[in-house]
Order: sequence, then C-alpha cells, then structure tokens
Amino acid sequence: MGFRARVVGADGRGPVTVLTFEALSPFEFDAGQYIGFVHPDGDIPMSIASGPGRLPFFELHYRPVAGAPDAERMDALLAGAGLGRGAGGARTDGRGPTVAGDVLECTGPLGAVTARAVPTLLLAAGTGAAQATGFLEWLRERRAPPPTVLWWSVSSPADLYQDAYFADLSASGWFDYRAFVDRPSGENTLLPALRGAPLADEVVLSGPAGFVDAAARVLMARGVARGRLRSDMLPVA
Ligand SMILES: Cc1cc2nc3c(=O)[nH]c(=O)nc-3n(C[C@H](O)[C@H](O)[C@H](O)COP(=O)(O)OP(=O)(O)OC[C@H]3O[C@@H](n4cnc5c(N)ncnc54)[C@H](O)[C@@H]3O)c2cc1C
Repeated sequence: MGFRARVVGADGRGPVTVLTFEALSPFEFDAGQYIGFVHPDGDIPMSIASGPGRLPFFELHYRPVAGAPDAERMDALLAGAGLGRGAGGARTDGRGPTVAGDVLECTGPLGAVTARAVPTLLLAAGTGAAQATGFLEWLRERRAPPPTVLWWSVSSPADLYQDAYFADLSASGWFDYRAFVDRPSGENTLLPALRGAPLADEVVLSGPAGFVDAAARVLMARGVARGRLRSDMLPVA
C-alpha cells in the first residue's frame, strides 16, 4: 500500500501544474484511481491522470487552491522535493519541465471508481478532469473503445487547462466532449444542461464534492438509478 515516488517533471498549464512522478518501489493501479501523499497532518488525495501503461511513471494534475489545508500541505511537500510554492517555480518562468530528485512517501492505490469498457458519461468539474484523463488514457488503448462522453465544468475560461487534449481526442470518433464555463455571476452552466443530457450506461462524477452532489441529484431526479452513478465523492451505493 505504501510506496515511494519522485518528481521527474512539472509542466505549468494555466492554474494547474501537470506533475510527472516515477514510482521507486512496486506500485500498480487501475485507471481512475488516486493516491495519497503522506503528510503528518493527514494524507493528501490526488487523482492519477495517466493510465497504468506508463508505469513506473504516472501523472497528476495539481491545482493549489488558496487557503485550502490540503494545498498548503501539498505545497510544503513539493517545496521539499525541490519545487516552489504550488510548483509555481516551474509554471511561471516558462522553463519547461523541472527535474527534482527528492522522494515523496505515497499511499495507494485508492478508490473503487476505475475505468471499464462500457458506454460512459464522464461528468468532471475543475481538477476532476484528472480522473477523466486517466479513464481516457486507458480507453484509447482499447481495440474498440466504447462510446464515451465527457462534460467538463470549470469556473472560468482560464481553467480549461485540458481543453486541447480533450478536443483533439474528440476527433477519434468514439469520444465526444463539451466544456461548460460558469457565468460571470458564478452560476454553473453544466447542471441545467444535464437535465436533458443523453445518458450512457454508467455516469462517472469527479471534482468538488458540491458539484458531484448537485449533479447526482439532477440525475436521480431524472430517474437515473443510484447504481449507475460512480464517484469517489459519493457514499458507496
Ligand atoms: C479523491 C480526491 C482526489 C482529488 N484529486 C485532486 C487532483 O487530482 N488535483 C487537485 O488539484 N486536487 C484534487 N483533490 C482536491 C479537491 O478535490 C480539489 O481541490 C477540488 O475539487 C477543487 O477543484 P477546483 O478548484 O478545480 O474546482 P472549482 O474551480 O472550484 O470548480 C470547478 C467547477 O465545479 C463547480 N462547482 C464547485 N462547487 C460546486 C457546488 N457546490 N455546486 C455546484 N457546482 C459546483 C463550479 O461551478 C465549477 O464549474 C482531490 C480530492 C479528493 C478527495
């Protein structure tokens, strides 16, 4: 369950830093799972944004949220691993990938929401795009990936850090993608559209707990059975 990993790359994409790690002790996971970074004040959960095929390397999408205790702890760990606050040293000076040598203690894999080869609607918000990216990396390696739809909700256009990746993948035929940006008033635009959304066999929800909860309520009001909804942020069905 415990393993060690070191940062081998950090790439700034808007408000998010894409961190590449190398596992230094045996580690396996299924696409869609997350890990915890061990910290004395509590482990910090982080979704794995790559598929298992890339091990021993794996990727994370980290967004430091100002004032969030998890972000303060994560920033401290990254600073200890040679990256500045919020990995911002790599992000703001345009130097490209940063290589650091220090080792972080991790725990995992965690989470029961893993990719399956069935038609799926992915509903992601903010850095919930990380888990969706992990799913997609696994699916695109299948011989015949099932029809997959991603709806991604963000607070502002600047938060669309994975937009080009998702848009490129949507040319593949099996994948359909729509981005939703909150109104300047802060009103979410995905949730109202969800009332008429075409539904797949399974719906996977990721992102802030408030978003996951609100989206699950819209779907259940439409008559979607709780058993079709999968999320690490919802109580087990
Ligand atoms: C298992 C797990 C894995 C995690 N993985 C990561 C990770 O990989 N990377 C990371 O940085 N953090 C991760 N976290 C921490 C945490 O989930 C994120 O910091 C959190 O999701 C904030 O996301 P954000 O700032 O990107 O969202 P925001 O930018 O705040 O919001 C994104 C969208 O969600 C909508 N939304 C937010 N709240 C609500 C609400 N109450 N009702 C309706 N809509 C709402 C907004 O309208 C917006 O469209 C993880 C936490 C857990 C428990």
